[in-house]
Amino acid sequence: MEQAIDVPSWSRRYSDRIPGWHAPTSKAKRNRLALDFGRDGFALLTAVYAPQSPPWLRELPAVQVLRRVLVQIYTRTVSGSGREAVKRREAEADGLPPGQQRLTSPYDTDARRSVKGGLLWNGFKIHISETCQAPESAAPGNNADARSGRPPRSPWPNLVTNVITTDATVHDSAMLDPIHQALQRRGLLPGEHYLDSGYASAELIVGSLKKFGVALITPMLRDLSRQARANEGFATHDFRIDWQMQQAVCPTGQTSTTWSPCHQAGVATTVVTFSTRDCGPCPQRPQCTTSQLGRRQLTLQPQEMHEALRDARARQKTEEWKHDYALRAGVEGTMHQATAVTGIRRARYHGLRKTHLDHIYSAVALNLIRLDTWWNGNPLDRTRTSHLARLELALTA
Ligand code: SF4
Repeated sequence: MEQAIDVPSWSRRYSDRIPGWHAPTSKAKRNRLALDFGRDGFALLTAVYAPQSPPWLRELPAVQVLRRVLVQIYTRTVSGSGREAVKRREAEADGLPPGQQRLTSPYDTDARRSVKGGLLWNGFKIHISETCQAPESAAPGNNADARSGRPPRSPWPNLVTNVITTDATVHDSAMLDPIHQALQRRGLLPGEHYLDSGYASAELIVGSLKKFGVALITPMLRDLSRQARANEGFATHDFRIDWQMQQAVCPTGQTSTTWSPCHQAGVATTVVTFSTRDCGPCPQRPQCTTSQLGRRQLTLQPQEMHEALRDARARQKTEEWKHDYALRAGVEGTMHQATAVTGIRRARYHGLRKTHLDHIYSAVALNLIRLDTWWNGNPLDRTRTSHLARLELALTA
């Protein structure tokens, strides 16, 4: 092993403890050092995998982590003459492993990096479900709260009913089925499930109702077609679709000429095309299509999904829907409470399983706090009194 390691240069590079270590300030030096790290790592692995090395060395978890990290970050080639070339992996030229496979910490091999809404983090994601109810549904005979000026007491406390933990790369929409399955196992499936738009898709709206009898109340992402974004011309939902006749009729009354079922990215779709004979002389054509072929084409999802999406987008524009959907805002308070009171923003343990257990304990703690406040008639969120206001009260007392 000592032949594989250049002890003086390793000692120069690795004798400092990490907390006291600083990267070189110049970019050139940083790049050089990064390559030295790569060469050192490969030298160590070569020694570990040498025939004369004990086989158990290769089984060490730290060796396996090193192997994966080196593959993620570097490429190594050895020429016929035995000359080794190590270089940093370039995303474009060399490719990178998918985010879900990529190690982001040598200390926690389950952690993954993700970004959402401008927030970048390394670790895990928690999905919390809780019961909710309209604020106006006050408990019967709950006059004491009205007398005290407090908000009416809820008939039931809102309780966390499910917690799922995933690594940070798993998309929200992929977790909706597992959430419903978990709620179903415990007999806690709701009739309506209020969700943020990250969980929504036409497929899930249709599938949740069919499989679990759960109606999703969630804003659908707006139509991203050029026409819808520019708010001019005709978006897909401006066309009347006759699924039986397999035809679409455009807003100027022209009927499509071809109807071609196909698969796009593994999803069943139908491409509907209008004729150049109709679109060519149409005065609406510049707004309707920019196709070089001079005719409009539509890509349709299957009928159920197309209609579910159309209806959901129409519904979410109504005041009634907006008022109803305001119920979901309660879960933001839950997330805040989970972060501020139980500290879930930072994982206390390594690994997905332990982090999930931590999340469950946090949910139990939240439920106990809520039951306590509900049983004792205390509002959960008292209005904050600033230090100055408290001082003023103390002085006037
Ligand atoms: S361009 Fe074609 S599809 Fe679009 S409105 Fe005119 S006739 Fe209808």
